[in-house]
Amino acid sequence: MLLDKADEPLRMADRARPAPSPGQIVIRVRACAVCRTDLHVVDGELARPKLPLIPGHEIVGTVEELGEGVTRFRTGERVGVPWLGWTCGKCAYCHDGQENLCDLAKFTGYTLDGGYAEYTVADQRFCFPIPELYGDAEAAPLLCAGLIGYRSLVKAGHGKLLGIYGFGAAAHIVAQVAKYQRREIFAFTRPGDDEAKQFALNLGATWAGGSDELPPVKLDAAIIFAPLGDLVPQALRALNKGGTVVCGGIHMSDIPSFPYSLLWEERSLCSVANLTRRDGEEFMTLAPQVPVRTEVEIFRLEEANEALNRLRAGKIQGAAVLVPDMDSA
Ligand SMILES: [Zn+2]
Ligand SMILES: [Zn+2]
Repeated sequence: MLLDKADEPLRMADRARPAPSPGQIVIRVRACAVCRTDLHVVDGELARPKLPLIPGHEIVGTVEELGEGVTRFRTGERVGVPWLGWTCGKCAYCHDGQENLCDLAKFTGYTLDGGYAEYTVADQRFCFPIPELYGDAEAAPLLCAGLIGYRSLVKAGHGKLLGIYGFGAAAHIVAQVAKYQRREIFAFTRPGDDEAKQFALNLGATWAGGSDELPPVKLDAAIIFAPLGDLVPQALRALNKGGTVVCGGIHMSDIPSFPYSLLWEERSLCSVANLTRRDGEEFMTLAPQVPVRTEVEIFRLEEANEALNRLRAGKIQGAAVLVPDMDSA
């Protein structure tokens, strides 16, 4: 499924199977989850995507062919491909354990072709083995919703009372990890979205309310997954002294101005950008221990536009996942 131009629906096209460059593997895609970031790419909210582009960066597949020098994986092995597709290994960030901020980084389904396809190629160094516990479709949302959610949770610190704004794919995974860590979850959903509230409560949230409401107690930290800048002052307002607000998305509408008193008393505000391979390894070890369970809604590959539209309208519970070959799913 190809994006020719921002703001246009994806187009189904026939392409030759990609050939691996040295260090790359060819992967037969078994499942690819649909991330909110894909919407930002398709809707033209992220600058300069590769065009035409195959979106998708939560890929689970099996290794079909090895490029020259590939030693990490064997043919037939199951692998996952995340958003971070390539880094330079030379810049100050790469040297400093912050490859997520690499100056020259390339991203799957944005500046590299991704997984809304039957086959894809990926640099072996940035792929992960997938824990056996998971089916292909179930595992796909772990690759971004899980990884970025996990990085956001780490940034939120160790506080026990955790707010989550936007209860979609990332939140439904983070909530399970946070509960495993004996934290209490306060879920904030679109005002009036009773289904999302119920979804959060079913996942063990202590309290669920509209994002325009304040929680019954002051929180130690809050993670914002919804792309709405208005939520930043709202989340700061919900925090205790010394608390942290983490913005977990790649794009957000403008943040309105707010009184300094909301930040005062050592509250902090930060964002999470991308992931490191280390995040991936840590999270893929942790996920089966929790064990994290993902709720997925499955679509055929050719239904990618419908999956995106439903996500845009807030109609997906958990994560949407594209499956190219339904018979093998
Ligand atoms: Zn770099
Ligand atoms: Zn993503």
